[in-house]
Amino acid sequence: MELPVFIQEARARVADGSHWPTRRRLLVFGATLILLGVLIGLFESTPEPEAEPYSEVVDLSLPERLPPDGTALDAAGARGSALPDLDRWASVTVRSGQTLDGIFRQQGFSVSLLHRILALNADTRGLKRIRPGDVFDFRADDGGELAAMRYALDEGRYLLVYNDGDRLVAEVQVREIVAEIAETQGVIDSSLFVAGKQAGLSDAMVMKLANIFGWDIDFVLDIRQGDRFMLVYEKLYREGAFLRDGEILAATFVNQGERFQAIRFDHGGGAEYFAPDGRNMRKAFLRAPLNFSYISSGFNPRRMHPVLKRIRPHNGIDYYAPRGTPVYAAGEGTVVRSGYSAANGHHVFIKHANSIETRYLHFTKRRVKKGQKVRQGQTIGTVGSTGLATGPHLHYEFVVNGVHRNPRTVPLPKVEPLQGEILTAFQSQAAPLLTQLSRLESASLYASRE
Ligand SMILES: [Zn+2]
Repeated sequence: MELPVFIQEARARVADGSHWPTRRRLLVFGATLILLGVLIGLFESTPEPEAEPYSEVVDLSLPERLPPDGTALDAAGARGSALPDLDRWASVTVRSGQTLDGIFRQQGFSVSLLHRILALNADTRGLKRIRPGDVFDFRADDGGELAAMRYALDEGRYLLVYNDGDRLVAEVQVREIVAEIAETQGVIDSSLFVAGKQAGLSDAMVMKLANIFGWDIDFVLDIRQGDRFMLVYEKLYREGAFLRDGEILAATFVNQGERFQAIRFDHGGGAEYFAPDGRNMRKAFLRAPLNFSYISSGFNPRRMHPVLKRIRPHNGIDYYAPRGTPVYAAGEGTVVRSGYSAANGHHVFIKHANSIETRYLHFTKRRVKKGQKVRQGQTIGTVGSTGLATGPHLHYEFVVNGVHRNPRTVPLPKVEPLQGEILTAFQSQAAPLLTQLSRLESASLYASRE
């Protein structure tokens, strides 16, 4: 067996090193309403609008226009294989209800050929599970027989099957993905997403930006007109064509006059974002343990009950979110209670370091058991209205040394900063990026004075 000469070397490795996949508090776009301290009857209750169905779009499809002649196959020709001089690839996008059998017949190939392909190895056996939207490319030889077919296993790899004389060969072909460094900046007028779009950023990039600074800035409540951002980021090109934006390498966000800066750095064990002085941008606790739409009732230790006309403290924050919204552990810890009561409904309490306990009430479902250790960002339950609640919301409490603190304003414990040699390494990596950011910021201020 010859070495697979088709395989192109990937010049850049696309590691989506979202080392911190669990930080998802943020930005519920429909949330233009911020209803603070709404008085809502005897029990904590909130209106219940119809939830938008949540869907996540993951684009792994092949480019619509394929290069007229796969360079990889030219390479194969050069080594004198049995591959004929090939024409264009014919692309087929799988439609709902379509089978690979059907697609083969439609392309004029036999089903027995398909079965031979499926039997080649574990990768080809995986082709039994195809989904609408999957794309197959075919090439036929002069006699109309299958010369080659390929299927995108993921963004950076094809599964290639070709007819080498009398023999079918399956191999994985790496697609070249190259990262280029880009920069942009924007000023917020109406919304962060509009400003991001004007700056040429995808919504996914705006989310990344908000995730980086979301520990310090509340992107639902704190954003103001005139806030600005500058960023240095990657643009990824696949086989010469723009694929998507990559990682943010460094960014500045100026919120209500206060400047925040973050630089991406791998300190061993994955990349995270650090402030120029080596502080981790991440905190030991999430400010809000879910993606919420708005606050339906604030923290108020002296809340006058609207009906009873007596002081009945509200010891937490009520976050309105559609039923079923995942709720995350605000920090690493141990579940000390996971149960049901008439008042609290399904609830979970987590004990953390430094005598901190976080409490989560009214779940539809609990996802953790008493005694279980949880990571920050791990889903512990889903928003519901069990117990004394007439609409879906999370009642969240932050208790320090037995005292209820306002979860919106309590100082959150920090993660250990970079130190010693690692800090030095970080600072030398950060220096040119910080220079680039300040140049961008000057340019942006200059432009806005024009
Ligand atoms: Zn509450």
